[in-house]
Amino acid sequence: MQITHSESLGQKNTLNLQARARAYAAIGSDAELVQALAWAREQQLAVVALGEGSNIVLAGDIDALVIRQCSRGIQLLSEDDKTATLRVRAGENWHGFVAWALQAGYYGLENLALIPGTAGAAPIQNIGAYGVEVNAFVDAVHSVTVASGTHCRLSNRDCGFGYRDSVFKRELKDSQLITAVDFRLLKKPALRTEYPALAAELDYRRADELTATDVFDAVVRIRSSKLPDPRELPNAGSFFKNPVVAASKGKELAEIFPQMPQYVQGDGVIKLPAAWMIDHCGWKGFRENGVGVHPMHALVLVNYSAQDGSRLLALADKIQRSVQGVFDIGLEVEPRVYGQAQ
Ligand code: FAD
Ligand code: NAP
Repeated sequence: MQITHSESLGQKNTLNLQARARAYAAIGSDAELVQALAWAREQQLAVVALGEGSNIVLAGDIDALVIRQCSRGIQLLSEDDKTATLRVRAGENWHGFVAWALQAGYYGLENLALIPGTAGAAPIQNIGAYGVEVNAFVDAVHSVTVASGTHCRLSNRDCGFGYRDSVFKRELKDSQLITAVDFRLLKKPALRTEYPALAAELDYRRADELTATDVFDAVVRIRSSKLPDPRELPNAGSFFKNPVVAASKGKELAEIFPQMPQYVQGDGVIKLPAAWMIDHCGWKGFRENGVGVHPMHALVLVNYSAQDGSRLLALADKIQRSVQGVFDIGLEVEPRVYGQAQ
């Protein structure tokens, strides 16, 4: 295990923001991880976990040991007639794993194709897309406690999953480094095609002929046509979470903005499309100081040429204020912000 100092993180985040880590280690095994954590404790340094950097904003340098999970491997743990349980090491690329599972005949993750990042980060915000959230397939999460170096196993229930949320963003924030995730996948496809954009894309096929590969391919096609590739235009996906509000607030808004879509959630609350509100406030395609709002997708902030995250966060702040002013709704930033702006 090698620890480097003042490591540049510019190539390690999809927003291409320039910042340095006081110390940095790329970790390939649990033993190396425990060693790195012991070193951080000795140095009295905080620890920050890093995957592929697709859901972070670097506002400035990180005064910590940044640990990048690079451990790889997929292992079949057990199977029965209906399901197979697979252990996936944290550093596996998420999309690579989804494609591998499909090829191997394990189903359920098709709707989550092409989400950037690592398998280890997937439980952090309970990644979701096209009507499916990863928590439906997480059996257990394995981690090492930062403060003690001890190993933990959290069951699905322990993870406290919610909408783009989990215990790792709340009670266990910064306290666990995920080393592997156990996924329980289906041996027979149970396709989820009700999400409107997906249903429209699959419209040309008869429902009884659809395969999991059709769904996977359709998700890849939609995402490739709609979302900017961070390698071409740096971004962190959706910059804001869709707000979830009480039904009474939804009713109030429906009277003023009858065109705004509203999605009734299972527990009676209403999910509002942040992109619609941002677009309504006129931000789509806006550009200033090397950052902007993507012209095709109002929820995606892009970095055209900024060096550090402060300009992006200033733009996010303006958008939040304008949405607050028009809709009386506070938008929450989805990616995690690290480092202090100078
Ligand atoms: P990072 O960005 O490196 O880290 C994110 C957070 O997780 C950080 O707080 C970090 O400390 C923590 N973390 C990472 N790895 C570990 C670990 N092993 N142990 C403990 N903590 C860890 N998200 C969705 O939910 N749905 C989407 O459809 C979606 N689409 C996207 C599209 C684009 C173009 C982009 C750029 C992003 C998108 N995202 C989406 C967000 C992002 O892909 C996910 O949040 C992803 O899981 C982040 O993985 P990562 O490895 O890049 O994590
Ligand atoms: P979209 O299809 O244009 O829909 C806009 C928003 O409306 C989505 O955010 C979605 O919420 C919501 N929505 C649409 N139909 C819905 C329904 N029938 N029931 C409940 N909610 C509905 O979305 P998009 O921006 O192109 O993204 C497509 C999918 O990929 C979405 O699921 C989105 O979350 C995901 N995605 C996420 C990120 C990220 O960084 N987090 C980035 C890109 C795409 P949900 O977001 O809750 O699905």
